[in-house]
Amino acid sequence: MTEVAISLRSTLHALDPYGRGTSEVESLLSYFCRLAVSHSTSTLSLSRMIAERFQHEVEKNFDWHERHISGLRESALTWSSALSAMTSVPGLDELTFLPWKAVVSQNGLSMVSKGQFCPVCFAEDCWNGRGPYFRLAWESRAMTVCLRHSVRLIQYCPSCGKDNVRHAAAFVVPGWCTKCGEFLGRDADQLEAEAISPEELWQARQVGDLLVAQGRHGDVAQRSGFIDALIHIIGEMDGGMPSMFAARTGIAKSTLHHWLHEKGTPTLEMSLNIAARCGISLPKLLLGDLRDWEAPRRDQQLALLPSHDLKRRSSARALDWDQIERELQNFLELPTPISVLEAARRLDVEARQLYLRVNRTTRHLGERWKRHLAHSRQANLQTALPHLQSLGRELLAEGHALTRRDVAARIPPEVMSSVPRLFEVLRNVQERLIAEQADSRRDS
Ligand SMILES: [Zn+2]
Ligand SMILES: [Zn+2]
Repeated sequence: MTEVAISLRSTLHALDPYGRGTSEVESLLSYFCRLAVSHSTSTLSLSRMIAERFQHEVEKNFDWHERHISGLRESALTWSSALSAMTSVPGLDELTFLPWKAVVSQNGLSMVSKGQFCPVCFAEDCWNGRGPYFRLAWESRAMTVCLRHSVRLIQYCPSCGKDNVRHAAAFVVPGWCTKCGEFLGRDADQLEAEAISPEELWQARQVGDLLVAQGRHGDVAQRSGFIDALIHIIGEMDGGMPSMFAARTGIAKSTLHHWLHEKGTPTLEMSLNIAARCGISLPKLLLGDLRDWEAPRRDQQLALLPSHDLKRRSSARALDWDQIERELQNFLELPTPISVLEAARRLDVEARQLYLRVNRTTRHLGERWKRHLAHSRQANLQTALPHLQSLGRELLAEGHALTRRDVAARIPPEVMSSVPRLFEVLRNVQERLIAEQADSRRDS
């Protein structure tokens, strides 16, 4: 183990978590990745160290990113307490869903298996002069959109197109692709708001409100309060008949019985379903807070139902390809070029359909976009190069190599985010500096 890792045994930097008490609270996973960056160590060795110190044994194929450390199960508890102990930053369980563990069943929080993110949030983090971070809300499967920017969360890199690029790697700098090293919020200022269904928005807002509530109430969600609220709701809406409530919500009678009379608690998804049908917000339902609640009328409920109840058939609309071709021609004339993906989005068709049906024009559009990118990247590089060179010189003088990690730690994110193909650029800068050094040694 390296010297750095050994010194970590005693203490870790006391980083401030981002967005505490808001719907944009940082996830524990993000906090952990930033800690690794801050100590110039890999997520792999930091994770091993935590696991060795706080769990009895570490399996041979130990893989930190397969554990849902921001969830509400055992690993979330172990990791949040371990990191609180090692950083002396209290309450890191607020960066997980643990505050709800009394009212959401153990396996009842569907977490995304691949890290999803909003590219605009990353870009905005940089514009605001701080490092990008992962939001806790992104870890829940119920969250499919960014409420702030009205874009769909994605899991792939907009530059190299590879999947699962947010954090599943031994070295992670939050906000940069783990496969190609490109900034994941690149060109985010050119993204446009997407049309998002009211159901998706409603669901995302509930998760957001849940996180605000956990910042405010901490660990106060109790199973008894929640079950009492449920009994009260069944009383008001279905005359106290669980079988009617089961039919209304599509929940199995035996499942409902298990919650009401044994020890069970619903999954988050089931609670979302109940909240939607009963006209109550998710945090209020889980906290058992019925102070302002009134049983909704039938027509009010329909407006709240989440998407799986409204299964809208994707409309098989007839596409007018001549019209689409004309639109593409117009896009070719735009002063600022747009990508094929963006064109597809604006026309509400799939990019591959464009390639299939309007191949020539689509390819022109793609080529124009590539030229534009190459041009603007070159310009960005010219801005960033002096920063990289002076940092490289400093590090070389200290006998260190210039790495992405150093760059993340020491160059303002808004400068770094504009550098294309960062790996290559760093290698070139370094090679040039070493040559420079050799020259000056020869001369002296
Ligand atoms: Zn966003
Ligand atoms: Zn990439």
